[in-house]
Amino acid sequence: MTNLPAAVDECVQYSRLIGSDPALVLHGGGNSSVKARWRDITGREVDVLFVKGSGCEMSTIRAADFAPLALGRLHELLDLESLNDTQMMRELAAASLDPDAPRPSVESLLHAFLPFDAVQHSHADAIVTLTNAVDGERIVEDVLGTGVVVVPYVMPGFDLAREVRRVWKEQPHVEARGMVLMKHGLVTFGATSREAYEQHVELLRLAEAWLQEHAPPPEREPAPLPGVSLDELADLRRDVSRVAGRPLVLQRHTDDVVRRFVARPDISALTTKGPLTPDHVIRTKPAPLVGRDVDAFADSYSAYFDEHSPRLDTRLEMLDPAPRVILDPEIGMVTAGSSAHEAQVVADIYHHTMPVLERAEDHLGGYVGLPPERLFEVEYWELEQAKLRRAGDPSALAGTVALVTGAASGIGRACAEALLACGVAVAGVDLSAEVETCFAGPAWKGVVADVTDAEAIHAALTETVESFGGVDIAIVSAGIFGPSTPIAKLTDDEWRSVLSINVDSVARLLRELHPLLSRSTIGGRVVVIGSRNVAAPGPGVAAYSASKAALTQLSRVAALEWAGDGIRVNLVHPDGVFDTRLRTPEMIAARAREYGVDVETYRRRNLLRTEVTSADVARAVVALCDDTFARTTGAQIPIDGGNERVV
Ligand code: ZN
Repeated sequence: MTNLPAAVDECVQYSRLIGSDPALVLHGGGNSSVKARWRDITGREVDVLFVKGSGCEMSTIRAADFAPLALGRLHELLDLESLNDTQMMRELAAASLDPDAPRPSVESLLHAFLPFDAVQHSHADAIVTLTNAVDGERIVEDVLGTGVVVVPYVMPGFDLAREVRRVWKEQPHVEARGMVLMKHGLVTFGATSREAYEQHVELLRLAEAWLQEHAPPPEREPAPLPGVSLDELADLRRDVSRVAGRPLVLQRHTDDVVRRFVARPDISALTTKGPLTPDHVIRTKPAPLVGRDVDAFADSYSAYFDEHSPRLDTRLEMLDPAPRVILDPEIGMVTAGSSAHEAQVVADIYHHTMPVLERAEDHLGGYVGLPPERLFEVEYWELEQAKLRRAGDPSALAGTVALVTGAASGIGRACAEALLACGVAVAGVDLSAEVETCFAGPAWKGVVADVTDAEAIHAALTETVESFGGVDIAIVSAGIFGPSTPIAKLTDDEWRSVLSINVDSVARLLRELHPLLSRSTIGGRVVVIGSRNVAAPGPGVAAYSASKAALTQLSRVAALEWAGDGIRVNLVHPDGVFDTRLRTPEMIAARAREYGVDVETYRRRNLLRTEVTSADVARAVVALCDDTFARTTGAQIPIDGGNERVV
């Protein structure tokens, strides 16, 4: 859309201020709007509601994230007696003046109704602490004063907009400074976005000051958690994934807030009293699992589904009965999601939930969330489900966890990159500190460790399991080439260092990985990076060739021993991969001279006369991890452009 009114830029600026504070909005929550005149292509002046797109992040919002809707049309829609969610979203889309704009917020009609040019809305922790207390309405009125309109809980959408209109018609709130939606959040307004923002800040200041005095945040020193083994965490992930019917990433949290919360004797009762605000439910489910009995949780969830689903207009299929938040006095908090990002979103939401539950419960007469039947309505809220569905079809490996050694460069790095692109949560281990920043985002965990150091490797596995819940896939890529030395001059140290890195460390790693891989619900998958040298060794690289031959034999035995556990172990034998750290340009030039050819010819010294890159190897490795080779174990696949001595 061109020639946007300046008021939209101002709205962007203040929306970002609200969005930048996680105590106000989290992950797509909250919204804002501004009403302004806009001149269309024919020169006509139109009254437009610029409202935040559904699911857009307030913290990074841009003008293009606002949907421009014809305001007159929205008022006509508000006159209807009823409008279901699907109809409403269709009508909102039809009211848009820009076909490229995002889908408008589900709260668009509420914004349209409010007789102010600028509106800002958040789910601030301080406000929901007040609204979710016993006698919340009275507390809100006492704390925020009579200039604030209080609206009872109604599910966001057409019904909430109508409810606000009803409240307003009963008593025109010309002097209103803001509006509190019970068990939902705060709405402020004004002639400009700045005014709406300032009202927001002022009302929050009042709420926070009052809470500080009457319901201070918990400060008890939390007790340390008793230890829990990696196997126990992997058991938990196996159970959750089994019940979900697909692998999920599990993320463990043991910070002060969590440790204090899981030690509460009333944790079971308190955590079933409902979430802070409706849009949290699709992420967290109506209640967490307290303890580790995943099957009991699934049974009661299914019973709850059966009891409440007939109340919906259309019978929906249950998504899955697996918990998303698990609270355990020994483990702390574990959050689950179909990706590391999702597990992180759930954790962020529950981190804000715990103190609110505690403050309302301990100081404000008790916490009261939404009743269960309303929770169900929200979880299967078609608008919100649509939000999740838009995330796209998950890849075959979505929700799985991989460990990649030698992940900072070459083939290991290419494998990590390819797995991340398939939605896999990847822990990359490398000697180089570069591994920590190779990739960004919650699905990447770079751990600096020497593969020959048993303690460091155990620590790396611990970090992997704490971050992602277990290990489904292992890519063994760490290795060295060693100096080119004829056997007659080979020192013991050279021999030992190559074998220790290329073979000894792998035997130890596989031993440590076995309990984790055998707990994978998809069946563990191991891909070992061997070498063309196994079938066709070269002079001057005795230690390297011998180590890769031993590594191959080790992997074949693993394939035999672990088949009964459903673990597949396969090898790839690359050759002539020059974009790795194993080979410097000087080494390549020296080898080319030895063979009496130029570098370019040396690089393509194979039957297909083709160059082999790390990415080519990674593609084959991913195929060995997904279902392409579901019926294959113990295989050795050359990735060498074809070699006469191998063929
Ligand atoms: Zn809201």
